[in-house]
Amino acid sequence: MEGGYGVGAYNVNNMEQVQGIMAAAGEMKAPVILQASRGALKYGKMIYLRKLMEAAVEDNPDIPIAIHLDHGNGFEACKLAISLGFTSVMIDGSLKEDSKTPTTYDENVAVTKKVVKYAHERGVSVEGELGTLGGIEDGVGSGKVLLTEPDQAQQFIEETRVDALALAIGTSHGAYKFKRAPTLAMDIIDEVKTRCPDTPLVMHGSSSVPDELVAIINRYGGDMPNTMGVPISSIQEAIKRGICKINVDTDNRLALTGAIRKFMAEHPEEFDSRKYLGAGRAAMTELLKGKMRAFGTAGHAGDYEPKTLEDMRKHYAEG
Ligand SMILES: [Zn+2]
Repeated sequence: MEGGYGVGAYNVNNMEQVQGIMAAAGEMKAPVILQASRGALKYGKMIYLRKLMEAAVEDNPDIPIAIHLDHGNGFEACKLAISLGFTSVMIDGSLKEDSKTPTTYDENVAVTKKVVKYAHERGVSVEGELGTLGGIEDGVGSGKVLLTEPDQAQQFIEETRVDALALAIGTSHGAYKFKRAPTLAMDIIDEVKTRCPDTPLVMHGSSSVPDELVAIINRYGGDMPNTMGVPISSIQEAIKRGICKINVDTDNRLALTGAIRKFMAEHPEEFDSRKYLGAGRAAMTELLKGKMRAFGTAGHAGDYEPKTLEDMRKHYAEG
């Protein structure tokens, strides 16, 4: 990933989300990462999501798109995603296969190394994670925060040869993150960036949980407590310091749900699912256009040379 901006990695579970994201990326001419969590794959089945993301690639030849497995919980999950043509996988070796219990450093290195070897032989890139995030989403997370230790991050990157590393700097998964604006450990980004300048760093749990989106949900029959996410200004600060992949899921869910609630409340006679899902899709596109501008990704679609998995396989084989 080129410097100076952060590419959004947006979770997808269905066609409307894929299309909503791609409409924003197309309009903003922004590179984009479509990612499926294991929860999504369970809900939609891996093959369906894979084909939806494949359709996005075919339908948007001018937009660079990575198709990514989010929080792979073990070697087998990553292997399955690779067999279906994902271009990138995350092995979250910070947690055991139950996606709840934290692992030891050595366990994390062992499983990450195994996935990296298998993936690189097939031209697929790998994201690892060191430290654990707060919050739980799609059943992923220990609920405890364990910040990334920079010296250990350097050792981890060297030992495993991961392509990208998710840092735990105090962000949290899900909508109910914080009661007030969080203080993120920005110095961890600096420290890791100095030690490993060539490794793209990743920020999970980066939804901002905007008040206006929560307000729409609550105005039309929802019942979400007051809550805060990661302010856009903190994300921009993190990007400046070296974060280049930003995972966002919750905000898209909020936009989609709010628009559907609003549409249904205003059109009680309507029962055509295309109408309310269409409204949800459009709301996501609007939200994401703003994020692509804020993350600096807008206008950067032309930065990337298309590469095949075979090109990447050779690249990895050369070391
Ligand atoms: Zn995550």
